Amino acid sequence: MNHYDYIIVGSGIAGLYIALLAIERGSVLILTKGSIDDCNTKYAQGGIAVAMGKDDSPELHFKDTMAAGDGLCDAEAVRILTDEAADCIADLINSGVPFDTLDGEITLTREAAHSVPRIMHAGGDATGEHIEVTLSRHVRSTPTKILENCLASEILVQNGKITGVRSLDCRTGSVEEYHCQFLILATGGAGRLFKYTTNSDVVTGDGIALAFKAGAEISDIEFFQFHPTVLRLPGVAPFLISEAVRGEGGILRNVEGHRFMPDYVAEAELAPRDIVARSIVYEMKKTHSDRVFLDATHLSPRLITTRFPHIYRFCRDHGLDITKELIPVDPAAHYLMGGVKVNNWGETNIPGLFAVGETACTGVHGANRLASNSLLESVVFSRRVVQRTEIATSSQSGQSSAASRHHSLPNRKPLSSAPSLNLPNLQSLMWDKVGIIRSDKSLEEAATILATWESLLPQPSDRPSYELNNLVLCARLVTEAALLRKESRGAHFRTDFPQNSPEWQQHIVFRKNVIK
Ligand SMILES: Cc1cc2nc3c(=O)[nH]c(=O)nc-3n(C[C@H](O)[C@H](O)[C@H](O)COP(=O)(O)OP(=O)(O)OC[C@H]3O[C@@H](n4cnc5c(N)ncnc54)[C@H](O)[C@@H]3O)c2cc1C
Repeated sequence: MNHYDYIIVGSGIAGLYIALLAIERGSVLILTKGSIDDCNTKYAQGGIAVAMGKDDSPELHFKDTMAAGDGLCDAEAVRILTDEAADCIADLINSGVPFDTLDGEITLTREAAHSVPRIMHAGGDATGEHIEVTLSRHVRSTPTKILENCLASEILVQNGKITGVRSLDCRTGSVEEYHCQFLILATGGAGRLFKYTTNSDVVTGDGIALAFKAGAEISDIEFFQFHPTVLRLPGVAPFLISEAVRGEGGILRNVEGHRFMPDYVAEAELAPRDIVARSIVYEMKKTHSDRVFLDATHLSPRLITTRFPHIYRFCRDHGLDITKELIPVDPAAHYLMGGVKVNNWGETNIPGLFAVGETACTGVHGANRLASNSLLESVVFSRRVVQRTEIATSSQSGQSSAASRHHSLPNRKPLSSAPSLNLPNLQSLMWDKVGIIRSDKSLEEAATILATWESLLPQPSDRPSYELNNLVLCARLVTEAALLRKESRGAHFRTDFPQNSPEWQQHIVFRKNVIK
Protein backbone atom coordinates (compact mmCIF):
# COMPACT_ATOMS: atom_id res chain seq x y z
CA MET A 1 0.00 0.00 0.00
CA ASN A 2 1.31 3.46 -0.68
CA HIS A 3 -1.66 5.64 0.24
CA TYR A 4 -2.17 6.67 3.88
CA ASP A 5 -4.40 9.12 5.71
CA TYR A 6 -1.38 10.45 7.58
CA ILE A 7 2.27 10.39 6.62
CA ILE A 8 4.57 11.53 9.41
CA VAL A 9 8.20 12.31 8.66
CA GLY A 10 10.35 11.82 11.77
CA SER A 11 10.21 9.65 14.87
CA GLY A 12 11.20 11.91 17.77
CA ILE A 13 8.67 12.96 20.40
CA ALA A 14 6.60 14.95 17.87
CA GLY A 15 6.38 12.23 15.22
CA LEU A 16 5.66 9.42 17.67
CA TYR A 17 3.11 11.29 19.73
CA ILE A 18 1.20 12.36 16.60
CA ALA A 19 1.26 8.78 15.35
CA LEU A 20 -0.33 7.52 18.57
CA LEU A 21 -3.18 10.00 18.24
CA ALA A 22 -3.58 9.73 14.46
CA ILE A 23 -3.78 5.93 14.39
CA GLU A 24 -7.14 6.25 16.20
CA ARG A 25 -8.42 8.14 13.17
CA GLY A 26 -6.90 6.56 10.10
CA SER A 27 -3.95 4.82 8.51
CA VAL A 28 -0.49 6.10 9.45
CA LEU A 29 2.95 5.79 7.88
CA ILE A 30 6.08 7.01 9.67
CA LEU A 31 9.16 7.64 7.54
CA THR A 32 12.36 8.07 9.48
CA LYS A 33 15.80 8.36 8.01
CA GLY A 34 17.74 6.40 10.62
CA SER A 35 16.49 3.87 13.13
CA ILE A 36 13.35 4.83 15.04
CA ASP A 37 15.27 6.23 17.99
CA ASP A 38 17.80 8.31 16.01
CA CYS A 39 16.66 11.79 17.04
CA ASN A 40 17.31 14.65 19.43
CA THR A 41 14.48 13.63 21.72
CA LYS A 42 16.38 10.78 23.30
CA TYR A 43 19.16 13.17 24.37
CA ALA A 44 16.89 15.55 26.28
CA GLN A 45 18.11 15.65 29.85
CA GLY A 46 16.60 18.46 31.89
CA GLY A 47 12.96 17.60 31.38
CA ILE A 48 9.62 19.01 30.44
CA ALA A 49 8.07 22.18 31.83
CA VAL A 50 4.58 22.20 33.32
CA ALA A 51 3.01 24.46 35.94
CA MET A 52 2.05 21.99 38.63
CA GLY A 53 4.03 23.10 41.69
CA LYS A 54 2.18 24.73 44.56
CA ASP A 55 3.52 28.22 43.89
CA ASP A 56 3.06 27.91 40.15
CA SER A 57 0.29 28.54 37.63
CA PRO A 58 -0.16 28.48 33.83
CA GLU A 59 -0.22 32.29 34.09
CA LEU A 60 3.28 32.37 35.65
CA HIS A 61 4.57 29.86 33.08
CA PHE A 62 3.05 32.09 30.39
CA LYS A 63 4.83 35.15 31.79
CA ASP A 64 8.22 33.40 32.00
CA THR A 65 7.89 32.09 28.44
CA MET A 66 6.93 35.53 27.09
CA ALA A 67 9.84 37.16 28.95
CA ALA A 68 12.38 34.65 27.56
CA GLY A 69 11.04 35.18 24.01
CA ASP A 70 12.16 38.83 24.13
CA GLY A 71 9.17 40.46 22.45
CA LEU A 72 8.65 37.97 19.64
CA CYS A 73 6.48 35.26 21.20
CA ASP A 74 3.00 34.77 19.82
CA ALA A 75 0.94 35.37 22.96
CA GLU A 76 -1.96 33.23 21.79
CA ALA A 77 0.32 30.27 21.05
CA VAL A 78 2.05 30.64 24.43
CA ARG A 79 -1.34 30.72 26.15
CA ILE A 80 -2.23 27.46 24.41
CA LEU A 81 1.13 25.96 25.42
CA THR A 82 0.81 26.81 29.08
CA ASP A 83 -2.94 26.17 29.41
CA GLU A 84 -2.93 22.80 27.63
CA ALA A 85 0.32 21.60 29.24
CA ALA A 86 -1.14 19.76 32.23
CA ASP A 87 -3.56 17.75 30.09
CA CYS A 88 -0.86 16.65 27.67
CA ILE A 89 1.51 15.74 30.48
CA ALA A 90 -1.22 13.65 32.10
CA ASP A 91 -1.40 11.80 28.80
CA LEU A 92 2.36 11.14 28.85
CA ILE A 93 2.10 9.90 32.44
CA ASN A 94 -0.78 7.61 31.45
CA SER A 95 1.30 6.32 28.54
CA GLY A 96 3.80 5.13 31.11
CA VAL A 97 6.61 7.71 30.97
CA PRO A 98 8.23 7.12 34.39
CA PHE A 99 8.59 10.68 35.67
CA ASP A 100 10.60 10.89 38.89
CA THR A 101 8.66 11.07 42.14
CA LEU A 102 9.39 11.57 45.82
CA ASP A 103 6.90 10.23 48.37
CA GLY A 104 4.38 9.69 45.57
CA GLU A 105 4.62 13.28 44.30
CA ILE A 106 6.20 14.22 40.98
CA THR A 107 9.50 16.01 41.68
CA LEU A 108 10.08 19.35 40.01
CA THR A 109 13.35 21.12 39.41
CA ARG A 110 14.17 24.70 38.46
CA GLU A 111 15.99 25.83 35.33
CA ALA A 112 17.24 29.23 34.19
CA ALA A 113 14.62 31.93 33.60
CA HIS A 114 11.82 29.88 35.24
CA SER A 115 10.46 31.73 38.30
CA VAL A 116 9.78 28.52 40.19
CA PRO A 117 10.67 24.82 40.03
CA ARG A 118 8.49 23.39 37.20
CA ILE A 119 10.59 20.87 35.28
CA MET A 120 9.46 17.25 35.44
CA HIS A 121 12.16 14.71 34.71
CA ALA A 122 12.60 10.97 34.31
CA GLY A 123 15.55 8.78 35.30
CA GLY A 124 17.13 11.92 36.80
CA ASP A 125 18.63 13.36 33.63
CA ALA A 126 17.40 10.78 31.10
CA THR A 127 13.98 12.30 30.41
CA GLY A 128 14.19 12.21 26.63
CA GLU A 129 15.32 8.62 26.52
CA HIS A 130 12.39 7.52 28.68
CA ILE A 131 9.93 9.46 26.54
CA GLU A 132 11.37 8.07 23.29
CA VAL A 133 11.43 4.47 24.54
CA THR A 134 7.91 4.66 25.96
CA LEU A 135 6.34 6.28 22.90
CA SER A 136 8.13 4.08 20.37
CA ARG A 137 7.06 0.95 22.27
CA HIS A 138 3.44 2.14 22.11
CA VAL A 139 3.63 3.05 18.43
CA ARG A 140 5.10 -0.34 17.58
CA SER A 141 2.11 -1.99 19.26
CA THR A 142 -0.32 -0.19 16.88
CA PRO A 143 -0.97 -0.85 13.18
CA THR A 144 1.25 2.17 12.30
CA LYS A 145 3.56 1.34 9.39
CA ILE A 146 7.13 2.37 10.23
CA LEU A 147 9.80 2.65 7.54
CA GLU A 148 13.27 3.14 8.99
CA ASN A 149 16.26 4.31 6.91
CA CYS A 150 13.84 6.17 4.62
CA LEU A 151 14.66 9.81 3.99
CA ALA A 152 11.88 12.13 2.79
CA SER A 153 13.47 13.83 -0.21
CA GLU A 154 10.66 15.87 -1.75
CA ILE A 155 7.19 17.06 -0.83
CA LEU A 156 4.65 16.36 -3.56
CA VAL A 157 2.19 19.16 -4.23
CA GLN A 158 -0.50 19.25 -6.91
CA ASN A 159 -2.73 22.23 -7.61
CA GLY A 160 -1.42 23.89 -4.45
CA LYS A 161 -2.35 20.94 -2.22
CA ILE A 162 -0.29 18.17 -0.64
CA THR A 163 -0.47 14.80 -2.34
CA GLY A 164 2.40 12.97 -0.66
CA VAL A 165 6.12 12.63 -0.33
CA ARG A 166 9.03 11.13 -2.26
CA SER A 167 11.43 9.08 -0.21
CA LEU A 168 14.87 7.57 -0.59
CA ASP A 169 15.64 4.17 0.87
CA CYS A 170 19.04 4.98 2.37
CA ARG A 171 20.20 1.37 2.19
CA THR A 172 19.22 0.44 -1.36
CA GLY A 173 19.12 3.90 -2.96
CA SER A 174 15.65 3.21 -4.40
CA VAL A 175 13.11 6.03 -4.55
CA GLU A 176 9.40 5.59 -3.73
CA GLU A 177 6.40 7.87 -3.68
CA TYR A 178 3.86 7.66 -0.87
CA HIS A 179 0.55 9.48 -1.03
CA CYS A 180 -1.55 10.89 1.78
CA GLN A 181 -4.21 13.32 2.84
CA PHE A 182 -2.11 14.89 5.59
CA LEU A 183 1.66 15.20 5.52
CA ILE A 184 3.23 16.04 8.87
CA LEU A 185 6.82 17.19 9.12
CA ALA A 186 8.34 16.23 12.49
CA THR A 187 11.95 16.31 11.33
CA GLY A 188 13.50 18.28 14.21
CA GLY A 189 15.83 21.28 14.03
CA ALA A 190 19.10 22.00 12.24
CA GLY A 191 21.85 21.81 14.87
CA ARG A 192 24.21 20.07 12.43
CA LEU A 193 24.66 23.44 10.75
CA PHE A 194 27.33 24.23 13.33
CA LYS A 195 30.76 22.84 14.12
CA TYR A 196 29.93 22.44 17.82
CA THR A 197 26.46 21.16 18.56
CA THR A 198 24.60 19.04 21.06
CA ASN A 199 22.37 17.69 18.29
CA SER A 200 22.14 14.18 16.87
CA ASP A 201 23.62 13.72 13.40
CA VAL A 202 20.13 13.21 11.91
CA VAL A 203 19.23 16.83 12.71
CA THR A 204 20.07 18.47 9.41
CA GLY A 205 17.17 20.86 8.74
CA ASP A 206 15.57 18.54 6.17
CA GLY A 207 11.96 19.45 6.94
CA ILE A 208 12.68 23.15 6.69
CA ALA A 209 14.49 22.79 3.35
CA LEU A 210 11.79 20.50 1.90
CA ALA A 211 9.00 22.78 3.05
CA PHE A 212 10.70 25.89 1.67
CA LYS A 213 11.22 24.22 -1.70
CA ALA A 214 7.55 23.22 -1.74
CA GLY A 215 6.47 26.84 -1.17
CA ALA A 216 5.94 26.90 2.61
CA GLU A 217 6.85 29.91 4.74
CA ILE A 218 9.89 29.81 7.04
CA SER A 219 9.87 32.18 10.01
CA ASP A 220 12.28 33.37 12.75
CA ILE A 221 15.09 31.18 11.46
CA GLU A 222 17.83 33.60 12.54
CA PHE A 223 17.15 32.65 16.16
CA PHE A 224 19.41 29.74 17.10
CA GLN A 225 19.93 28.96 20.75
CA PHE A 226 23.45 28.09 21.89
CA HIS A 227 23.61 26.04 25.06
CA PRO A 228 26.17 27.52 27.47
CA THR A 229 27.50 24.37 29.08
CA VAL A 230 28.63 21.56 26.83
CA LEU A 231 31.40 19.26 28.01
CA ARG A 232 34.73 19.99 26.32
CA LEU A 233 37.16 17.10 26.58
CA PRO A 234 39.72 16.28 23.88
CA GLY A 235 38.42 13.59 21.52
CA VAL A 236 34.96 13.49 23.12
CA ALA A 237 31.91 14.56 21.06
CA PRO A 238 30.03 17.53 22.57
CA PHE A 239 27.94 16.29 25.48
CA LEU A 240 25.38 18.47 27.17
CA ILE A 241 25.76 19.32 30.84
CA SER A 242 22.16 20.11 31.66
CA GLU A 243 21.05 23.54 32.77
CA ALA A 244 19.59 21.76 35.76
CA VAL A 245 23.14 21.40 37.15
CA ARG A 246 23.20 25.20 37.44
CA GLY A 247 19.57 25.05 38.63
CA GLU A 248 20.73 22.86 41.54
CA GLY A 249 23.53 25.31 42.43
CA GLY A 250 26.37 24.67 39.95
CA ILE A 251 28.71 27.66 39.51
CA LEU A 252 30.66 28.87 36.46
CA ARG A 253 34.33 29.72 36.96
CA ASN A 254 36.92 30.96 34.49
CA VAL A 255 40.29 29.24 34.05
CA GLU A 256 41.65 31.37 36.90
CA GLY A 257 38.99 29.99 39.24
CA HIS A 258 36.99 33.24 39.41
CA ARG A 259 33.17 32.97 39.52
CA PHE A 260 32.40 35.37 36.68
CA MET A 261 28.64 35.29 36.00
CA PRO A 262 27.75 37.83 38.76
CA ASP A 263 30.12 40.29 36.95
CA TYR A 264 27.78 40.20 33.94
CA VAL A 265 24.23 39.90 35.27
CA ALA A 266 22.37 39.80 38.57
CA GLU A 267 20.74 36.40 37.87
CA ALA A 268 24.30 35.02 37.49
CA GLU A 269 24.28 31.35 36.40
CA LEU A 270 20.49 31.35 36.13
CA ALA A 271 20.30 34.12 33.53
CA PRO A 272 18.78 33.26 30.10
CA ARG A 273 20.93 30.97 27.95
CA ASP A 274 21.98 33.59 25.42
CA ILE A 275 23.39 35.82 28.16
CA VAL A 276 25.26 32.97 29.84
CA ALA A 277 26.62 31.74 26.47
CA ARG A 278 27.86 35.21 25.47
CA SER A 279 29.36 35.83 28.91
CA ILE A 280 31.29 32.57 28.57
CA VAL A 281 32.59 33.63 25.14
CA TYR A 282 33.74 37.00 26.57
CA GLU A 283 35.32 35.33 29.55
CA MET A 284 37.18 32.81 27.36
CA LYS A 285 38.51 35.71 25.25
CA LYS A 286 39.52 37.62 28.35
CA THR A 287 41.43 34.69 29.78
CA HIS A 288 42.79 33.47 26.42
CA SER A 289 41.23 30.09 26.98
CA ASP A 290 38.95 27.79 24.98
CA ARG A 291 36.87 26.81 27.99
CA VAL A 292 35.43 27.75 31.35
CA PHE A 293 34.48 25.39 34.17
CA LEU A 294 31.24 24.34 35.75
CA ASP A 295 31.81 23.68 39.42
CA ALA A 296 29.49 21.21 41.12
CA THR A 297 32.03 20.06 43.71
CA HIS A 298 30.25 21.92 46.55
CA LEU A 299 27.00 20.00 45.86
CA SER A 300 26.36 16.81 47.75
CA PRO A 301 27.75 13.80 45.86
CA ARG A 302 24.45 12.02 46.52
CA LEU A 303 22.52 14.82 44.82
CA ILE A 304 24.81 14.62 41.80
CA THR A 305 24.70 10.86 41.42
CA THR A 306 20.94 10.56 41.93
CA ARG A 307 19.79 13.71 40.13
CA PHE A 308 22.29 13.53 37.26
CA PRO A 309 23.20 9.85 36.98
CA HIS A 310 23.63 10.01 33.22
CA ILE A 311 25.96 13.05 33.29
CA TYR A 312 27.85 11.64 36.26
CA ARG A 313 28.42 8.29 34.52
CA PHE A 314 29.33 9.86 31.17
CA CYS A 315 31.96 12.11 32.76
CA ARG A 316 33.30 9.33 34.99
CA ASP A 317 33.64 7.06 31.93
CA HIS A 318 35.80 9.79 30.41
CA GLY A 319 38.00 10.10 33.47
CA LEU A 320 36.27 13.01 35.22
CA ASP A 321 34.69 12.69 38.66
CA ILE A 322 32.33 15.68 38.76
CA THR A 323 31.71 15.32 42.48
CA LYS A 324 35.40 16.23 42.99
CA GLU A 325 36.60 17.91 39.78
CA LEU A 326 35.58 20.95 37.75
CA ILE A 327 33.77 20.26 34.47
CA PRO A 328 35.39 21.92 31.42
CA VAL A 329 32.59 23.44 29.29
CA ASP A 330 31.91 25.86 26.48
CA PRO A 331 28.80 26.72 24.42
CA ALA A 332 27.45 24.76 21.44
CA ALA A 333 24.52 25.10 19.01
CA HIS A 334 21.47 23.56 20.61
CA TYR A 335 17.98 24.57 19.51
CA LEU A 336 16.36 26.29 16.54
CA MET A 337 13.57 28.64 17.60
CA GLY A 338 12.34 29.30 14.05
CA GLY A 339 11.27 26.90 11.35
CA VAL A 340 8.29 26.09 9.17
CA LYS A 341 5.69 28.71 9.98
CA VAL A 342 2.47 27.21 11.31
CA ASN A 343 -0.69 28.52 12.89
CA ASN A 344 -2.06 27.37 16.24
CA TRP A 345 -3.17 24.07 14.66
CA GLY A 346 0.19 23.22 13.15
CA GLU A 347 -0.99 24.11 9.63
CA THR A 348 1.41 25.62 7.13
CA ASN A 349 0.34 27.85 4.25
CA ILE A 350 0.07 24.74 2.02
CA PRO A 351 -3.22 22.88 2.55
CA GLY A 352 -2.57 19.37 3.90
CA LEU A 353 0.98 20.18 5.08
CA PHE A 354 1.61 20.38 8.83
CA ALA A 355 4.76 20.88 10.88
CA VAL A 356 5.32 20.10 14.54
CA GLY A 357 8.11 19.88 17.09
CA GLU A 358 11.42 21.64 16.59
CA THR A 359 10.98 21.89 12.82
CA ALA A 360 7.91 24.09 13.26
CA CYS A 361 7.71 27.72 14.21
CA THR A 362 4.56 27.98 16.30
CA GLY A 363 5.71 31.27 17.81
CA VAL A 364 5.93 29.95 21.38
CA HIS A 365 9.68 30.51 21.66
CA GLY A 366 9.93 33.95 20.07
CA ALA A 367 13.56 35.02 19.93
CA ASN A 368 14.69 32.68 22.72
CA ARG A 369 13.27 29.42 24.05
CA LEU A 370 12.58 29.01 27.72
CA ALA A 371 14.39 25.83 28.80
CA SER A 372 12.29 22.64 28.73
CA ASN A 373 9.47 24.18 26.71
CA SER A 374 10.33 22.29 23.53
CA LEU A 375 9.29 18.78 24.56
CA LEU A 376 6.12 20.39 25.87
CA GLU A 377 5.52 22.28 22.63
CA SER A 378 5.87 19.02 20.70
CA VAL A 379 3.10 17.27 22.61
CA VAL A 380 0.73 20.23 22.91
CA PHE A 381 0.84 21.08 19.21
CA SER A 382 0.88 17.42 18.05
CA ARG A 383 -2.45 17.01 19.74
CA ARG A 384 -3.77 20.12 18.01
CA VAL A 385 -2.61 18.89 14.59
CA VAL A 386 -4.60 15.71 14.97
CA GLN A 387 -7.63 17.59 16.29
CA ARG A 388 -7.41 19.85 13.25
CA THR A 389 -7.34 16.97 10.81
CA GLU A 390 -10.65 15.76 12.24
CA ILE A 391 -12.26 18.99 11.15
CA ALA A 392 -11.92 19.74 7.41
CA THR A 393 -8.58 21.49 6.88
CA SER A 394 -8.72 25.15 6.17
CA SER A 395 -6.05 27.40 4.80
CA GLN A 396 -3.69 29.15 7.19
CA SER A 397 -5.16 31.47 9.74
CA GLY A 398 -3.20 34.39 11.20
CA GLN A 399 -0.30 33.57 13.47
CA SER A 400 1.58 36.04 15.55
CA SER A 401 0.71 39.27 17.26
CA ALA A 402 3.96 40.81 15.91
CA ALA A 403 4.03 41.93 12.28
CA SER A 404 6.04 40.05 9.66
CA ARG A 405 8.39 41.10 6.89
CA HIS A 406 8.23 38.78 3.89
CA HIS A 407 11.28 38.04 1.77
CA SER A 408 12.58 35.57 -0.76
CA LEU A 409 16.21 34.49 -0.66
CA PRO A 410 18.27 37.15 -2.44
CA ASN A 411 20.21 36.29 -5.59
CA ARG A 412 23.92 36.75 -4.90
CA LYS A 413 26.68 36.70 -7.42
CA PRO A 414 28.76 33.55 -6.80
CA LEU A 415 32.44 34.05 -5.99
CA SER A 416 34.91 33.02 -8.68
CA SER A 417 36.74 30.97 -6.07
CA ALA A 418 35.44 29.76 -2.72
CA PRO A 419 36.57 27.21 -0.12
CA SER A 420 35.58 23.69 -1.15
CA LEU A 421 32.12 22.61 -0.12
CA ASN A 422 31.93 19.79 2.38
CA LEU A 423 30.19 19.31 5.71
CA PRO A 424 33.11 20.28 7.99
CA ASN A 425 33.74 23.48 5.98
CA LEU A 426 30.04 24.40 6.10
CA GLN A 427 29.90 23.77 9.86
CA SER A 428 33.07 25.80 10.51
CA LEU A 429 31.80 28.68 8.39
CA MET A 430 28.51 28.76 10.30
CA TRP A 431 30.25 28.49 13.68
CA ASP A 432 32.80 31.21 12.91
CA LYS A 433 30.59 33.70 11.02
CA VAL A 434 26.96 33.01 11.98
CA GLY A 435 27.43 31.74 15.53
CA ILE A 436 26.95 33.21 19.00
CA ILE A 437 28.35 36.64 18.08
CA ARG A 438 27.55 38.00 14.61
CA SER A 439 28.25 41.17 12.63
CA ASP A 440 27.45 42.58 9.23
CA LYS A 441 30.97 41.71 8.07
CA SER A 442 30.91 38.09 9.23
CA LEU A 443 27.39 37.53 7.93
CA GLU A 444 28.12 39.07 4.52
CA GLU A 445 31.18 36.86 4.15
CA ALA A 446 29.17 33.77 5.01
CA ALA A 447 26.24 34.76 2.78
CA THR A 448 28.44 35.08 -0.30
CA ILE A 449 30.23 31.78 0.27
CA LEU A 450 26.94 30.00 0.94
CA ALA A 451 25.37 31.37 -2.25
CA THR A 452 28.44 30.20 -4.17
CA TRP A 453 28.19 26.74 -2.64
CA GLU A 454 24.48 26.59 -3.44
CA SER A 455 25.24 27.27 -7.09
CA LEU A 456 27.73 24.39 -7.12
CA LEU A 457 25.63 21.73 -5.38
CA PRO A 458 25.43 18.49 -7.35
CA GLN A 459 22.14 16.60 -7.70
CA PRO A 460 21.80 14.60 -4.45
CA SER A 461 21.72 10.84 -4.68
CA ASP A 462 22.31 9.45 -1.19
CA ARG A 463 21.67 10.45 2.42
CA PRO A 464 24.84 12.54 2.95
CA SER A 465 24.32 14.49 -0.27
CA TYR A 466 20.63 15.17 0.47
CA GLU A 467 21.59 16.31 3.94
CA LEU A 468 24.33 18.59 2.66
CA ASN A 469 21.91 20.16 0.16
CA ASN A 470 19.38 20.76 2.93
CA LEU A 471 22.00 22.19 5.28
CA VAL A 472 23.27 24.63 2.66
CA LEU A 473 19.73 25.90 2.05
CA CYS A 474 19.06 26.20 5.80
CA ALA A 475 22.41 27.95 6.27
CA ARG A 476 21.43 30.48 3.62
CA LEU A 477 18.08 31.09 5.33
CA VAL A 478 19.68 31.55 8.77
CA THR A 479 22.40 33.84 7.45
CA GLU A 480 20.21 36.03 5.24
CA ALA A 481 17.69 36.45 8.07
CA ALA A 482 20.50 37.35 10.49
CA LEU A 483 21.75 39.94 8.01
CA LEU A 484 18.31 41.46 7.59
CA ARG A 485 17.74 41.75 11.36
CA LYS A 486 19.70 44.87 12.19
CA GLU A 487 19.43 44.60 15.96
CA SER A 488 20.19 42.18 18.77
CA ARG A 489 17.28 40.27 20.25
CA GLY A 490 17.08 37.01 22.19
CA ALA A 491 19.58 34.53 20.83
CA HIS A 492 20.49 36.74 17.86
CA PHE A 493 23.39 39.04 18.79
CA ARG A 494 25.21 41.45 16.47
CA THR A 495 28.20 43.52 17.56
CA ASP A 496 27.24 46.24 15.05
CA PHE A 497 23.68 46.48 16.47
CA PRO A 498 24.08 45.42 20.11
CA GLN A 499 20.68 46.75 21.26
CA ASN A 500 17.20 45.68 20.32
CA SER A 501 15.04 48.06 18.33
CA PRO A 502 11.24 48.48 18.47
CA GLU A 503 11.30 48.72 14.67
CA TRP A 504 12.43 45.10 14.62
CA GLN A 505 9.72 43.67 16.81
CA GLN A 506 8.77 41.78 13.69
CA HIS A 507 9.20 38.32 12.25
CA ILE A 508 11.30 37.69 9.19
CA VAL A 509 9.47 35.27 6.94
CA PHE A 510 11.03 33.64 3.88
CA ARG A 511 9.14 32.12 1.01
CA LYS A 512 10.09 31.25 -2.54
CA ASN A 513 9.23 33.93 -5.08
CA VAL A 514 7.90 36.70 -2.85
CA ILE A 515 6.79 39.55 -5.07
CA LYS A 516 7.56 42.95 -3.55
C1 LIG B 1 21.23 17.26 24.18
C2 LIG B 1 19.84 17.84 24.16
C3 LIG B 1 19.16 18.07 25.35
C4 LIG B 1 17.87 18.62 25.33
N1 LIG B 1 17.19 18.77 26.51
C5 LIG B 1 15.91 19.20 26.48
C6 LIG B 1 15.14 19.25 27.66
O1 LIG B 1 15.60 18.88 28.74
N2 LIG B 1 13.86 19.70 27.57
C7 LIG B 1 13.30 20.10 26.39
O2 LIG B 1 12.13 20.51 26.37
N3 LIG B 1 14.02 20.05 25.26
C8 LIG B 1 15.29 19.60 25.26
N4 LIG B 1 16.00 19.54 24.10
C9 LIG B 1 15.32 19.87 22.85
C10 LIG B 1 14.39 18.73 22.48
O3 LIG B 1 15.01 17.50 22.76
C11 LIG B 1 14.03 18.77 21.01
O4 LIG B 1 13.60 20.05 20.65
C12 LIG B 1 12.90 17.78 20.73
O5 LIG B 1 13.26 16.50 21.17
C13 LIG B 1 12.61 17.77 19.24
O6 LIG B 1 11.72 16.72 18.99
P1 LIG B 1 11.27 16.48 17.51
O7 LIG B 1 10.37 15.29 17.54
O8 LIG B 1 10.76 17.73 16.93
O9 LIG B 1 12.63 16.16 16.71
P2 LIG B 1 13.73 15.02 16.93
O10 LIG B 1 13.59 14.35 18.23
O11 LIG B 1 15.04 15.63 16.63
O12 LIG B 1 13.36 13.98 15.78
C14 LIG B 1 13.49 14.30 14.42
C15 LIG B 1 13.21 13.05 13.61
O13 LIG B 1 13.10 13.37 12.22
C16 LIG B 1 13.84 12.42 11.47
N5 LIG B 1 14.17 13.03 10.19
C17 LIG B 1 14.81 14.20 9.97
N6 LIG B 1 14.87 14.45 8.64
C18 LIG B 1 14.25 13.42 8.02
C19 LIG B 1 13.99 13.10 6.66
N7 LIG B 1 14.38 13.88 5.64
N8 LIG B 1 13.33 11.96 6.38
C20 LIG B 1 12.94 11.12 7.38
N9 LIG B 1 13.16 11.39 8.68
C21 LIG B 1 13.80 12.51 8.99
C22 LIG B 1 15.00 12.09 12.36
O14 LIG B 1 15.62 10.90 11.95
C23 LIG B 1 14.29 12.01 13.71
O15 LIG B 1 13.66 10.75 13.84
C24 LIG B 1 17.28 19.00 24.10
C25 LIG B 1 17.97 18.79 22.91
C26 LIG B 1 19.24 18.22 22.92
C27 LIG B 1 19.95 18.01 21.62
